[in-house]
Amino acid sequence: MYRFAPSPTGDMHIGNLRVALFNYICARQAKEPYLVRIEDTDKARNIEGKDREILEILSAFGIAWDQLAYQSENLKFHRQLATKLLMEKKAFACFCTPETLETKREAAKAAKTAYRYDGTCRYLSDEEVLNNESPFVVRIKKPAEDICFTDLIKGELRFAPDDIDDFVIMRVDKTPTYNFACAVDDMMYDISTVIRGEDHVSNTPKQILIHRYLGYDREIRYAHLPIILNETGKKMSKRDDASSVKWLLEEGFLPSAITNYLILIGNKTPVEIFTLEEAISWFDLKNISKAPAKFDIDKLRQLNREHIRMTESRLLSTLIGYSSEEIGELAKLYTEEGSTLKEIKAKIDKIFADKRCDDFPEEFEKLKNIAKNAPYFKEFNDFKSYLTKESGLKGKALFKPLRVLLTGAQGGPNLSDLYPYIRNYLGEIIK
Ligand code: GLU
Repeated sequence: MYRFAPSPTGDMHIGNLRVALFNYICARQAKEPYLVRIEDTDKARNIEGKDREILEILSAFGIAWDQLAYQSENLKFHRQLATKLLMEKKAFACFCTPETLETKREAAKAAKTAYRYDGTCRYLSDEEVLNNESPFVVRIKKPAEDICFTDLIKGELRFAPDDIDDFVIMRVDKTPTYNFACAVDDMMYDISTVIRGEDHVSNTPKQILIHRYLGYDREIRYAHLPIILNETGKKMSKRDDASSVKWLLEEGFLPSAITNYLILIGNKTPVEIFTLEEAISWFDLKNISKAPAKFDIDKLRQLNREHIRMTESRLLSTLIGYSSEEIGELAKLYTEEGSTLKEIKAKIDKIFADKRCDDFPEEFEKLKNIAKNAPYFKEFNDFKSYLTKESGLKGKALFKPLRVLLTGAQGGPNLSDLYPYIRNYLGEIIK
């Protein structure tokens, strides 16, 4: 089974979506089920409604899951297994207060050394533990030896015991930490491959240690995706609008274009423009570059134009608030002018809005009255000839107001290209 394990703690980041997509593609290729596991054990950080928002985004992107789980539902297993580790002395109760730990952390910082848990509670006797009524966390004992694994993207990785440290697996309130809940659940759901962001690389040896201590011997494969950098070469953060999937959708980027883009960057693909289904037929994690991928909004805009042109016209029309095939075709024509649904909708809304032409106000009014009462013309040239003849206008005095009359704008596609899509709506356009 593959899994996507989002935390409901904020807006979905494009890096998360990329992880969701890659897991989905690999699950489909391997014909294994896909689990969406909402990692909601950190109550303080959960945000009400974010889980639903994540699921809506996945649906909008055509990412279907076979199973949905909320990690907090597995709390009793996390607790049981933490108890098992305590009994087997693979974990220990730690009574160090947050203040004491903070003082030690500060001291390490002042001495310019990396802070590690100093083992204060590691060797307490059973009596000392049982007689202590203070609150405690549960820490796992760091391993005696290095932990190695082969990352599907990064290759061989090795972590020293001190880098793993005696880390906390259960908080004071007896809820599991991310590493513990994640490792236990990956085991329980029989996850075959974990694909996730590079920020989790240092968690993997910790999770492998948990598996080993619990006697789990099925090998899980790991792939850590390089981070996505913004245009200035820094990690895409919440401060970059484009890092939010919600923002991109609101701006009018199509899910299919965002998908195309997130699969394209930092990858070797046989073609540049493709659908998710097509990617499933050739995607290979081996082609993912070890180097960070760089986010380039102009490239995304180009792909968005391509995907707008690939969208079925009637559907495209409804996406921008209309309902006819012709308006969908018109929207495609307007990819010369705009790259997002929002930009294109603004252009098309102008066609149907009230208009004025400050350069040629009188000519505009005259033309409008003639056009309003004109017979139906199939061809733009015939329509134009009729207006020319009836108005006596020519040159700029004809074309400028005519363009404004038909489009509400000074520039744009050739009127002759535009006309076939608007000729049936002239009654609504010329008001
Ligand atoms: N909840 C973690 C996150 O959103 C999951 C990481 C993982 O896939 O294990 O980053």
